[in-house]
Amino acid sequence: MVIMTNRSQKNFYTGAGLDRATIARKQADWLAQRLAAPESRFLAVWRGLFLVASPPQGTPEEASVQPVYLDPASPWWREAATLAPAFLGVEGDVAHFAVDLSGLEEGHPDLLGLGTPTELRTLAHQVDRSTASLLAYVRGLLGWHQRHRFCGVCGTVTEVIEGGHVRRCTNPDCKTLHFPRTDPAVIMLVHDGDRCVMGRQARFGQGMYSTLAGFVEPGESLEEAVAREVMEEAGIQVTDVRYQSSQPWPFPSSLMLGFHARAVTTELKVDLEELEDARWFTREEVREASLRRGPLDGSLRLPPADSIARRLIEDWLEGEV
Ligand SMILES: [Zn+2]
Repeated sequence: MVIMTNRSQKNFYTGAGLDRATIARKQADWLAQRLAAPESRFLAVWRGLFLVASPPQGTPEEASVQPVYLDPASPWWREAATLAPAFLGVEGDVAHFAVDLSGLEEGHPDLLGLGTPTELRTLAHQVDRSTASLLAYVRGLLGWHQRHRFCGVCGTVTEVIEGGHVRRCTNPDCKTLHFPRTDPAVIMLVHDGDRCVMGRQARFGQGMYSTLAGFVEPGESLEEAVAREVMEEAGIQVTDVRYQSSQPWPFPSSLMLGFHARAVTTELKVDLEELEDARWFTREEVREASLRRGPLDGSLRLPPADSIARRLIEDWLEGEV
């Protein structure tokens, strides 16, 4: 278990607690030993979804939900996998791998025998925090493999090396190495002390408003990205841009970088291409929404508890800005 003390560890999808063994995983012999070790664990993934076995009858449903691990003693799945098991890390003496079974057709008996394909954001709240973080890691890594089968330089097929953490172009004149991508996105709560700005997209559920957010562009610092996005989406000028914490967000490959920023101007000019609405909310309105439970009634709702957006809002409410 890796012991950490930092502001990001409160964020959901952090804290997998694995040692990624980034030096050892470059050695083919070492990896081969881990692959063959009887205690190694092989997490099954199918087209970005995790497989969940039905709980045995009589057990409380929530208590027994776990993603499916493949049986090393019955290795039919090694043939079915679309790429070699991707090495994730070690926990004590136990190595963890992810196995991509995306090549199996939907409804294939082998797949049905394992369990029900389930979205990470559904499963994440039924497993413990460190497992949710491990699943986020796997979703990000395997998602990258799915989208980077060809070299971006010359278009030739790439091959997987270093336990699934590098792809190398197979064209001998190219041999470009490709590394897993993480796309930085800034997400920020803009406030003027007692009020904050939140916006809503048309796809949001009824009454929901959230922090503004956007991708960092080439040649831009994080603070510049925050200021640009807030100006574009809400027409507000900001200062005092302060980093708060980060969160892996593998939907499909983002790293959310959370900020608070102070508004210099207050007149909203909403970009209606990006947002359906943006408004100032008072601390009281936001506090009330953070405590509200029960059915939708059209009143303000905050983003879900697994999001860094919610964390940014809650920290502002508690005066930690
Ligand atoms: Zn190439």
